[in-house]
Amino acid sequence: MAKVNKYGLSRTIPADVRRKVRQQSGYGCVICGMGVIQYEHVVPEYHEAKFHDPLAITLLCPSCHSKVTTGFYSKQKVLQAMKLPAAKQTGFSKDFFDFCGPHPSIKIGGMTLVRCHSPVIIYDRPILKIESPKELGAPFLLSGIFCDKEGKPTLEIVENEWRAHSDSWDVEVSAGEITVRDSPRNIVLKLKVLPPDVILVETLKMRFGFVDININGETINLKSPMSDLTLSHCLAEDCRVGISIYSLISTPQIYPSLLTRLIRNTYSITS
Ligand SMILES: [Zn+2]
Repeated sequence: MAKVNKYGLSRTIPADVRRKVRQQSGYGCVICGMGVIQYEHVVPEYHEAKFHDPLAITLLCPSCHSKVTTGFYSKQKVLQAMKLPAAKQTGFSKDFFDFCGPHPSIKIGGMTLVRCHSPVIIYDRPILKIESPKELGAPFLLSGIFCDKEGKPTLEIVENEWRAHSDSWDVEVSAGEITVRDSPRNIVLKLKVLPPDVILVETLKMRFGFVDININGETINLKSPMSDLTLSHCLAEDCRVGISIYSLISTPQIYPSLLTRLIRNTYSITS
């Protein structure tokens, strides 16, 4: 396939144009709202384009893209959807995590949580939780919520369906990664899928209630008016709860808390 068209236009769409296309499409396929997408030149098509005009480009999921190229969907359908993208109607683009194998593991700020039902709990609310399959052969179910630095949700996960909010400044989904930015160079969430069963939270700048959560590679910092906790390089296996902070109810004794054990081991905690 030629790298340029007859006008010498490269197939590579510049990053700023791609971002504009994502923003105007609500970060999902304009027809169905699915979040794993491809960029499509609509009018003019790529072979007739002289420059990458964001208003002439849109997002389509592989399924809808294929229906357009094989003639099952008309160009008019795409143009109509561009006026009112599906993700903007629902408020989010979406897709699914695939946990067809063993219990998913969570890597978050240098912590590895293996077979952990509730990896992170704040104010008794699971930020992440993993439920057992509902029937034999069904997948494990991951749910959770991520917010930005102001506490506004950016990505919610409901039983393996992830929903990236369309009012975020930018959401980019590619190569097994979901990246949310609140400005050109500021990532507030980078989440990676490491098949078959690992979710890696690589970057997070999040406020939840009075708690600021900062994850940068190998460390996680949880800061509130009352405490400042930094953790890194921890492994927890078969814990019902990973990190639990600011519980408003007493933690049942049957739920061993990783945090309790970490405090005993004098990790860098000031409070
Ligand atoms: Zn679609």
